[in-house]
Amino acid sequence: TVPVISIDGPTASGKGTLAAEVARQLGYHYLDSGALYRVTGLAARRAGLEPNESNETEIARIALHLPLEFIRGQVLLDGEDVGDDIRTEAAGMDASRVSALPAVRAALVDLQKRFRRLPGLVADGRDMGTVIFPDAPLKVFLTASAAHRAERRYKQLISKGISVTLDSLRLDLEARDARDMNRSTAPLKPAEDAKLLDNSEQSVVQSVDQVLQWWHQAQPF
Ligand code: C5P
Repeated sequence: TVPVISIDGPTASGKGTLAAEVARQLGYHYLDSGALYRVTGLAARRAGLEPNESNETEIARIALHLPLEFIRGQVLLDGEDVGDDIRTEAAGMDASRVSALPAVRAALVDLQKRFRRLPGLVADGRDMGTVIFPDAPLKVFLTASAAHRAERRYKQLISKGISVTLDSLRLDLEARDARDMNRSTAPLKPAEDAKLLDNSEQSVVQSVDQVLQWWHQAQPF
C-alpha cells in the first residue's frame, strides 16, 4: 500500500506549510484538501449559489465534476488560476460552509483518495486521518493557540498588502473552528491514534523535524 501521512488541525495552525515541507523532504505528493472545499465554494458562488443547505444537491454536483487541476503549485479551475481568489477570508468562510454539507463531503471523497500515489502522500485537512485515510501509518493533529494562529495569519495577509485587523481575524478563526468542530459530518477532532503537536512555540523547522522523526519511527525500514 502507498504510505500516507495525515496532518489535520484547525484553521491557520500551519498545516499547509508543515505538510508541504514534509512532502518535499520525503519526495511525496501533497494534498491540500482545504483547497478542494475552497474551490467548491468559489465555483458555487460563481454559479450564483449561496453555500447553504438549500443548495446542497447542486453544490455537491459541482464538487463531483470540478474542472480542477493542480499544476506546478497553481490551482486551476476550468483552466483559470484561482489561487488568489480561494485564499481570501471570504473564500475560507464559504469553504467552511460548503464543507458542512454532507453531500459535498461525500462528493469529494474519491478525488481525495486519488492523490494517494507512489511514492507516498502527505495530506492536510480536517478529516484526513479520521475519514479519508483512516489507515494512515502516521496521523498528526496540529494545534496552536487562537492567539498564535491569528497572529500568523495577520502577518501573512499584511505582507501581501491585504489590510485586516488582528481582532477580526481572531473572531473569524474562532467562528470557523466552532463550525468545523460542531458539524455532524466529519467534525474536526484528532483521530484516536493521532500524535498531537502544538506548534505555538515551535518554528516550522522544529515541527517538520518532529514529524519526520515520528515517520521514521512508524516506518522502521
Ligand atoms: O484548510 P483550509 O483553511 O484551506 O480549509 C478551508 C475550510 O475547508 C475549513 O475551514 C474547513 O471547514 C474545510 N475543510 C474541511 N475538511 C478538510 C479540509 C478543509 O472541512 N479536509
